[in-house]
Amino acid sequence: MPAPKNAMEIFRLLDKSNCRECGEKTCLAFAGAVFQGHRTVDECPKLTPSEIEQFSGSPSGGPSIEENREAHLEAMKQKIRKIDLAAATERAGGRFENGRLILKILGKDFSVDAQGNLMSDIHVNPWLAAPFFDYVLNGEGVTPIGQWVSFRELKNGKDRYPLFQKRCEEAMQRVADIYTDLFDDIVHLFSGRQVERQFQSDISVVLHPLPKVPVMICYWRPDEGIGSSLNVFFDQTADRNLDIGSVFSLGAGMALMFQKLALRHGFVEN
Ligand code: SF4
Repeated sequence: MPAPKNAMEIFRLLDKSNCRECGEKTCLAFAGAVFQGHRTVDECPKLTPSEIEQFSGSPSGGPSIEENREAHLEAMKQKIRKIDLAAATERAGGRFENGRLILKILGKDFSVDAQGNLMSDIHVNPWLAAPFFDYVLNGEGVTPIGQWVSFRELKNGKDRYPLFQKRCEEAMQRVADIYTDLFDDIVHLFSGRQVERQFQSDISVVLHPLPKVPVMICYWRPDEGIGSSLNVFFDQTADRNLDIGSVFSLGAGMALMFQKLALRHGFVEN
């Protein structure tokens, strides 16, 4: 489809139910946010992959979702070039070596130089790159206090929670249901740790996708006809170290990583 000329062209493709699953109050508000580049069209869970594809493969040269994401990352790189990386090190909870700010991301070194170039031992997943930049640029560097809250309790989290539930919690739950060693493997691969079971869950695992943004995943196995359940918790300070969009990306990005891990082990979701 040609690049939309206004928000109404995007609105026409939406299902107009105003279901709020994207976190906007109406489909029209969502269309406006997409048109202004604040949201991407794939954030409406009602659109099918082929409808999303219509936006992505714009023959007229309009920006695709991927291009929007790239432009966003490039803008953040530009900002990194203007800050003193060494001075940001302590706030970010990292170390500074050979001109690079190095942070532990899921147990692996992930670094950025003064030009904004990222380097990592793990694949630089764009879902994780944006929160990394946001954390370095805008995070307050608040130390976690050990109080776990859900995504919807974080600042501005309530409206976006339905989409977070779908893209992060439900996606992780589907993986955990088929891949029984998931939690042992993520503890091992991503330097996580099993903690005392929280909220009467069967398994509670804490991971550090950013040094001062711990994430706790709690899983309840299916039991006597009751389905399984999975919830993701953040430290109460998470919204001071990251904005809610980045917290969302982190959760959705981790869910994608788990899905890939499951695939690599031969587990395929129904
Ligand atoms: S998710 Fe948002 S854009 Fe999609 S149908 Fe619901 S309210 Fe409309």
